[in-house]
Amino acid sequence: MDKLIYLDNNATTRVDDKVFEAMLPYFKEEYANPSSMYEFAKPASRAIKEARAKVRDMLNAANEKEIIFTSCGSESANEAIRGVLNMNKNKRHIITTKVEHPAVLNLYQTLEKQGYNVDYIGVNSNGELDLEQLKNAVNSDTALVSVMYANNETGVIYPIEKISNIIKTQNPNTKLFVDAVQAAGKIPIDVQALGVDLLGISGHKFHAPKGIGALYINSKTVITPLIIGGHQERGLRAGTENVPYIVGIGKAAELAVDNLKYEMTEVKRLRDRLEANILKNVFNSRLNTGVANRVPNTTNIGFEYIEGELILLHLSDLGICASSGSACTSGSLEPSHVLRAMGVPFTAIHGSIRFSLSKYTTEKEIDYVTEVLPGIVNKLTNLSPFQNELEELRKLKS
Ligand code: PLP
Repeated sequence: MDKLIYLDNNATTRVDDKVFEAMLPYFKEEYANPSSMYEFAKPASRAIKEARAKVRDMLNAANEKEIIFTSCGSESANEAIRGVLNMNKNKRHIITTKVEHPAVLNLYQTLEKQGYNVDYIGVNSNGELDLEQLKNAVNSDTALVSVMYANNETGVIYPIEKISNIIKTQNPNTKLFVDAVQAAGKIPIDVQALGVDLLGISGHKFHAPKGIGALYINSKTVITPLIIGGHQERGLRAGTENVPYIVGIGKAAELAVDNLKYEMTEVKRLRDRLEANILKNVFNSRLNTGVANRVPNTTNIGFEYIEGELILLHLSDLGICASSGSACTSGSLEPSHVLRAMGVPFTAIHGSIRFSLSKYTTEKEIDYVTEVLPGIVNKLTNLSPFQNELEELRKLKS
């Protein structure tokens, strides 16, 4: 196969042609500053309004005033977290999970250095959160709980509605921020049913370009801005609006809603086919998430006693893109903090690969990967210094 097979859609996605086309007029013809008073600016300001309504619909927010545009998922998280803490200066306690994306985790580590007390909730071997630990952690000093909707490395979905109920029962004043970057476009998001206060998404994970995100802020939640300046985005995010990109995330949100059924049936079918074939044909493979509830496009498979980076290089030689760890941690040889938190055995943690599909993935591509992967793994297995352990495993699996 001389074509690229892109199975790294949790890192980023291809911009949908319809998104690209929708954006184009706002670069050249409709380039006005949307805040200007004259007629020429009206199409730009109307386009922002329409895009906001589309993102509102995608998240089922009650009001489009609850949506602000940001530059990315990281900014949405920083805005939400710092914004809530600034409004609650007398409270010093935060709860999050051990498996958050570095965009969130590194911010909490910085806040810890600034005197915040942060509890990191653990997960079980399937990657599921310890809700009892979460419940016991909430106290009268807890300003914020921050839990991702779906994990970028494993695809595991967290029960946000349940989490919201637990938190609000323990302390109704505690705010809940949800990093939904990996949920958007993969599963339905309903901020009202979930009972969240703030929720962040990023366009480039659902076929909009990189460099545009959004943050839902419940109308009852007051936060401070991260970027102070002009009055844009109701004073919560200064800076002349990035009209083409806002149009892009709006169009992508609309398409994502239309595509959800396909994602949850056909993309899931292809993911399950890939997963089942690998687990069947490669004796030293294991599904790192077990029975956990997952987004439809992601699988994380451990290959015991071999190096994941070597598998990735061999796949790359054949034009197949997959990843180990998150886009931010791959490239470093540190084992994934997510798989470590799940207690994935040392023998499999370095050999774990994430495959993440999209609406563009075809059955032919999946079958090609299924065909070539066992050969690659076999070659590396034969070179592994752990031959005795591998023999034991082979006997166990046969
Ligand atoms: N949160 C999660 C779960 C992610 O997967 C990512 C990106 O991979 C981010 C946040 C950061 O998003 P962005 O790259 O738009 O800043």
